[in-house]
Amino acid sequence: FRFEEAGFPSFVQDSLRRAGFEKPSIIQSQAWPTLLSGRDLIAVAETGSGKTLGFMLPAFVHLRDQRPIRHGEGPIVLVLAPTRELAMQIDVETKKFAGASKVRSAVIYGGQPRGGQIRQLRQGAEIVVATPGRLNDFLREGIINLNRVTYLVLDEADRMLDMGFEPQIREIVDQIRADRQTAFFTATWPKDVRELARDFMSEDTVQIN
Ligand code: AMP
Repeated sequence: FRFEEAGFPSFVQDSLRRAGFEKPSIIQSQAWPTLLSGRDLIAVAETGSGKTLGFMLPAFVHLRDQRPIRHGEGPIVLVLAPTRELAMQIDVETKKFAGASKVRSAVIYGGQPRGGQIRQLRQGAEIVVATPGRLNDFLREGIINLNRVTYLVLDEADRMLDMGFEPQIREIVDQIRADRQTAFFTATWPKDVRELARDFMSEDTVQIN
């Protein structure tokens, strides 16, 4: 499986070439065809597996297919991550690979002043990467709405549950349309994670380990 076979638009191919990667990782070669076909995905995957680009490059294609993007009405792609470090890392990788496309990414997390994050959202961002606590605060206060989200990613779902984020995650996902596409990443597959996946994923979900 080579990068050229994945069916990405040229701006994505260009950024992959610039990155100098040799070939897709195992998780990418399984995740890309599934996500590009519009199906839901559950992937049991570790950090370092290349999972970020596994879900983000298909998100770019999803966004391209939604064009023209109207500004200032909330994100189309939402990524939930357990920690501020991971959220920032995903945002950096997103910006690096968004390349020449006009896609904008904003990151929101707790433990930091809210002003800068609110400004980023007001400028319009098709992609929002967020930790569940701060996102939930913003939702309750009407700072952000999720009406336009059609592509949802839960990254390190097991860790989000370990950190006690289940109520916030459920409140967030309740506000996202049911016909969205969902990608669910977790390093482990215990009962509480399986139950969350059962509630969030469609019938037509591909699972990879
Ligand atoms: P992740 O598992 O998403 O945190 O990615 C770990 C690191 O691997 C990141 O620095 C990526 O830029 C890099 N990476 C992603 N895909 C590939 C690939 N196909 N070949 C080599 N490195 C990659």
